[in-house]
Amino acid sequence: MNYKKISIASVTVGMLAAGSAFAQTAEIGTWAGFRKAATSFTFDDNAPNHVTHAAPAFDEYGYKATFNLVYNWNPDWSGFQKMADNGHEIASHSNTHGQNMSGEEASSKKNIEGKIKQKYGTITVAYPNCNVPGMDALKANYIAGRICGNGQEVMGKDGPSDWFRVPAHMTGSTGSFNNTNAFTGAMQQAIQKGGWVMFLTHGFSNAGNNGNANYSPTDLNAIKGALKWASERDGDLWVTTFRSATMYIKERKASKIEASTSGNTITVKLTHNIADNISKFDYPLSVRVKSDWKKVEVKQGDATLESKVDGGYIYFDAVPNGGDILVKNADAAPESSSSAEPPASSSSSEIAGSSSSETALPVQVIDDRHIAAYVDASGYITVQNAQGLNITVFNSLGNVVRSTKGIGCEQKVFSGAKGMYVVKIGNRAWTLKIK
Ligand SMILES: [Zn+2]
Repeated sequence: MNYKKISIASVTVGMLAAGSAFAQTAEIGTWAGFRKAATSFTFDDNAPNHVTHAAPAFDEYGYKATFNLVYNWNPDWSGFQKMADNGHEIASHSNTHGQNMSGEEASSKKNIEGKIKQKYGTITVAYPNCNVPGMDALKANYIAGRICGNGQEVMGKDGPSDWFRVPAHMTGSTGSFNNTNAFTGAMQQAIQKGGWVMFLTHGFSNAGNNGNANYSPTDLNAIKGALKWASERDGDLWVTTFRSATMYIKERKASKIEASTSGNTITVKLTHNIADNISKFDYPLSVRVKSDWKKVEVKQGDATLESKVDGGYIYFDAVPNGGDILVKNADAAPESSSSAEPPASSSSSEIAGSSSSETALPVQVIDDRHIAAYVDASGYITVQNAQGLNITVFNSLGNVVRSTKGIGCEQKVFSGAKGMYVVKIGNRAWTLKIK
C-alpha cells in the first residue's frame, strides 16, 4: 500500500545521486580473492623431476610454484619454459651454486633470462647454501630473495621483516617436513595468523630423476597430500608463487583505494607509487566495494573485469595504476547520453607513478613475450603477460563468451560452466578445460 511513497523516495535518491558523487567504502583484500592466508612452494637445483613430477602435481589443481635454477647445471630449458608458459615462476639459484652467490646475482639473472621468457624475467632469487650475499647487487636485480629456515617461516600478512631474507621451511629427509601433516600443520598456522608460509624442496625420494638435487629428498606424496588439502580450502588459502605473493604484499601495502558513486556508476581509483626498475608491480589486487547493487559490470580501461556480488559487496581484481575502474549498475536503465556522468577515463595522465609509454600499449602483435594461459585453482581462465592484447574466450560451440583486453601481469578473464574453452590472445590460441 505504500508503493507510491516508496517510488517517490527512490526517485529522490536517484536525483540526489545524479547531482553529486559520494564516497563509497572500498577495501583491498589482505590476500588474493579475500583469502585468509597464502603459501608458496619453492624448488631448488633444477631436478629433472621438477619438470616431470612436481609441475604436473601443481597443474592438477591449477596451482603455481617457483623453480630456482642453477644456470650451469644444465636445466631442461624447454621443460622449464613450458612451465613458465603455464604460469609457474622460474627464478635464479646462481650460475655455479658457490658460496654467497659468487658474485653471480646479475649474471645468473641475465643468463636465465636468455633461456626462459616470462613476465619481468627472473625477479626472485634463492641463495645457494642459504648464504645471503651483498644487498646492493640483490636489490639491483631482484624484488625478493629466499633464505632457508630461520624459525620465522610462518610470516604475518606483511611478509618478512627483510625482503632479501624470506624464510622457508626446508622439506625432506633432513627435517620434520616429510609427510602431509607437517605441510598442512604449517598451512593451518598461516591461516590462523592470516599470514604466509613458504616451503623449500629439492628432489624427491620416490619420483623420477633428482639430477643434482640430492639434498634432503622429499616424499612427493607428502606434497601431493598438502596440495589436495589446500585445494579443499581454496577459499581460505592462496597457493601462489614467491613472485606473486611478494608483488601482492608490496602493492597492497603501498596502494591507496578510493571509491565514489555517481548515479549508476561507482568509480574506483586504485594507485600506488612504487618506483622500481625490476617489476612494474601490476599484479592485480583483490578489491571489494560496499554496495547493494545486485548485478554489475566492471571495467578498467578497455578490460572487462570478472566480478562477483556477494553479501552486500562487489568483488573484483583490478590492477593498481591501471586506470580508473568503473562499476556500472547493470540492473539500472541505460543512462541518457546527456547524463551528468563524468566521462570514463583511463588516460595515462591521471595514473600516478607510471609513464604514459607503459600504459598506452597500442601494438596488437604478439612479440617474444611468452604469454601464459591456464585455468586457476578457482576455475578461472587466467592469462599472464597479455597487457594491451585482445582476448576472446569461446565455448565448445564456438560462441564468444568473453571479449576483453589484457591488463596487468596476470588476469582472470572468464569463469563459467565446466567444459572445454578456446582462449584467443592476439593471434594465438589455447584450449583449456574448466574442471
Ligand atoms: Zn641449491
